[in-house]
Amino acid sequence: MSILSIQNISKSYGNIKALNGVSFEVPQGAIFGVLGPNGSGKTTLLSIIVDVLKADNGNFLWFDQPSSPATRRKIGTLLETPNFYHYLSAFNNLKITNSISGRGNVTEINVVLEKVKLLERKNSRFSTYSLGMKQRLAIAGALLGEPKVLVLDEPTNGLDPVGIAEIRELIKELSIAGHTIIMASHLLDEVEKVCTHVAILKKGTLLTTGAVDDVLVDNDIVEISASDNNALLNILQSYNGTEQVILENGLVQIQLAKGTARPEEINAFCFSKGITLNHLVIKKKRLEAKFFELTNN
Ligand code: ADP
Repeated sequence: MSILSIQNISKSYGNIKALNGVSFEVPQGAIFGVLGPNGSGKTTLLSIIVDVLKADNGNFLWFDQPSSPATRRKIGTLLETPNFYHYLSAFNNLKITNSISGRGNVTEINVVLEKVKLLERKNSRFSTYSLGMKQRLAIAGALLGEPKVLVLDEPTNGLDPVGIAEIRELIKELSIAGHTIIMASHLLDEVEKVCTHVAILKKGTLLTTGAVDDVLVDNDIVEISASDNNALLNILQSYNGTEQVILENGLVQIQLAKGTARPEEINAFCFSKGITLNHLVIKKKRLEAKFFELTNN
């Protein structure tokens, strides 16, 4: 079942087209990454689906229904860093968050602090918190009202490595606890580590979407050469499992599905066709290269 269905959404700021007919589905229980370089439209899209901005065109459905106060109650959002009071404790800050947003109630505060592992520090002043703890408190605020879905814009931005690790771990735990999570990120590595599904945006256009394992497939690459590389290129067209064979920088490159490269087999295959190899190296195609390809073509 789809938690969120985005249908053909467009949005311009004056003559800047921030989103151009974007459509995708967020499955229930996903950790869904909206991935793209800065300026690709991620914040605009998240702002539209939480009703902060209005789309020029297109629709979106939450839980198969048009957005309404009832659907909004099921969605916790963290689009901007909240302004917490430095001299107040985590608990008192969340009391203020609760009274401003009207989401949840005071008795829930300990529950959300427990979820983000700040219960023991609930009486410490905000100013004594690490960056990761501050962001965890912000997520606790978004958890008030027991939302089914959390929408987070670049949740690890500006954090130190420890804070980044804490937040990524927390996101996975919240997912296990039953929340569907939709998060923007400009980091391929983050989406790969944290997310189950992804939609990749480039300049407001959806490039691709699906399960992370399908979209960000990492091919095996075997680089070989022989005295006659053109002949080599030819015979490899019929090698079982070849997805692509190209001649690059005087070497033949074979792309195969992840984990399927068998160099001995390739060597034996070529030999059986009368070609002796003078070079054979397995290379890993970096996912970054794939992302770069996707976002720069
Ligand atoms: P991302 O979150 O991926 O960095 P944004 O949604 O913030 O992307 O921005 C998408 C595009 O829209 C960018 O070109 C950005 O400069 C432009 N943009 C965003 N907000 C505004 C605004 N309030 N006024 C004008 N242009 C904007």
